[in-house]
Amino acid sequence: MPPTFAQLGAPDFIVSALAQRGINQPFAIQAATVADALAGRDVCGRAPTGSGKTLAFGIPLVASVGSAQPHKPRALVLAPTRELADQIMTELRTFAGKRRVSVAYGGVGYGGQIGSLRRGVDILVACPGRLEDLIEQGHVNLSAVDKVVIDEADRMADMGFIPAVRRLLDQTSTKRQTMLFSATLDGDVATLTRDYQSDPVRHEVGDEIPDVSAADHVFWSVARTDRTDVCAEAIDAAGSTVVFCRTRHGCDRVARQLHSRGIRTAALHGGRSQSQRTRALAEFAAGKVQALVATDVAARGIHVEGVGAVVHYDVAADHKTYLHRSGRTARAGLGGVVVSLVQPEQVKELKSMQRKMGLQQPITEVDVAAIRTAAPRNGSASARGFATDSSPRGSKTHNANADAPQSRSERRKPSADANRQRPDSQRPGSQSRRRTLERPAAKNQSRHRGSNNNRSRSKGHQRSPQR
Ligand code: ADP
Ligand code: MG
Repeated sequence: MPPTFAQLGAPDFIVSALAQRGINQPFAIQAATVADALAGRDVCGRAPTGSGKTLAFGIPLVASVGSAQPHKPRALVLAPTRELADQIMTELRTFAGKRRVSVAYGGVGYGGQIGSLRRGVDILVACPGRLEDLIEQGHVNLSAVDKVVIDEADRMADMGFIPAVRRLLDQTSTKRQTMLFSATLDGDVATLTRDYQSDPVRHEVGDEIPDVSAADHVFWSVARTDRTDVCAEAIDAAGSTVVFCRTRHGCDRVARQLHSRGIRTAALHGGRSQSQRTRALAEFAAGKVQALVATDVAARGIHVEGVGAVVHYDVAADHKTYLHRSGRTARAGLGGVVVSLVQPEQVKELKSMQRKMGLQQPITEVDVAAIRTAAPRNGSASARGFATDSSPRGSKTHNANADAPQSRSERRKPSADANRQRPDSQRPGSQSRRRTLERPAAKNQSRHRGSNNNRSRSKGHQRSPQR
């Protein structure tokens, strides 16, 4: 039996207000975070959309927020979009009791927001831009804020809000509790956690594994010695490509070999310095190099849109690795091709890996033409059909796509539908035909206050010596 909201420590007025809405049983992320947050701990929560993150932070906020003086809110919820801020405010108000919940976001007049702030707002839900304006104009002061929530931190990063978020957090109380929620916890989000959370308890719900069902998956039988030639042809056909190798050494060698076949490449692995990696990623994102040759570990930092193909030069070690690598393409609603170069002695292992993912593609001869059909060159995804026997069945981690439609355009529907449910400004792809790139952590963070504790710091730097 999962605990009830009352058992998690939610006060009666919240429990009964939620019950009136038919909300009686905590969702997983709520069961995981509410007690820790009520105890005052920093929380770092990863959970997919729709998993109930608003209540996960909302219940502890409402339960423990102090009473605000004019212009000096006590709790701050930062959200990337106006729509989201409105949703959060609406949801919080259903069980906020006497706590005053209000919003600050752009695109509407200042009058109402300024009036509320003057009367006093206990919990302010805000988008970074308008909040900075209101601060500058003297209507808000964040010094009494001792509870902060950063909601949808990954989207915040995608939209370029991280510098503003940092500036805002720097103005809040040094004795604050900081909760961060996001669908992913890597890249810029990890940096925020490291710099602004203090010994956070981390709760992760759902499968972090990326959705690769928008990509076309092909498996080519290739002799070991032919792999570089085939890889070069695939890159030529697909445009920008991430090539995965097992070892650092392998990466360097393959990058060199591809280079000698006229492909502009950059290597990305743990043996390269931070500045070399940063440059490699930047050149790839800018289209100056066609292929990024990477190890699995380095690949976690690749968040570039418009990658036409992923090539598993060395077959992935297991299905999770396959999905993580493959998730570098077909992002943000665009298509992409995933190519595995399979050597004859790897077939058995590969079949077993495919079964774990619900993929059933045959291992075929090399067919570079198929890539031209499928890869989104120059960011424009092809809408043409793809050979039925190559259609992915949809991985088991994504039941919504379990019945894979036959054509590419049909197959793209699920993600299009998911987008349609959100307002335009919230679509991840709405401004991302351009390639976006997550900046790696800046080296010197000491000017930022917050958790510099060694535990969270060292965690972020764990790295396999091989990769
Ligand atoms: P997320 O922020 O993770 O995307 P939300 O917090 O917006 O998800 O919650 C999604 C929906 O689920 C909302 O309509 C919310 O009211 C509802 N919900 C949240 N928690 C519960 C619960 N414990 N029981 C029933 N419905 C819930
Ligand atoms: Mg939410």
